[in-house]
Amino acid sequence: MSVGLLSSISDAISGGGDGDDDVFTYRCASCGAEFDLPKTRMMGVRCPDCRSMDVRDAAEN
Ligand SMILES: [Zn+2]
Repeated sequence: MSVGLLSSISDAISGGGDGDDDVFTYRCASCGAEFDLPKTRMMGVRCPDCRSMDVRDAAEN
């Protein structure tokens, strides 16, 4: 069973707070939305609002 995986996913959705994975802030270049995702999701990141894949590191500006 992958209970651990499910648990970390729900932590990520609810904001976690258990000192889990580092979170990265991205900004969508298309609609300007900002959102946080674990660093491990660097590949294939999509904007949750408009689904654009043209997202950037919000800290790098
Ligand atoms: Zn967007």
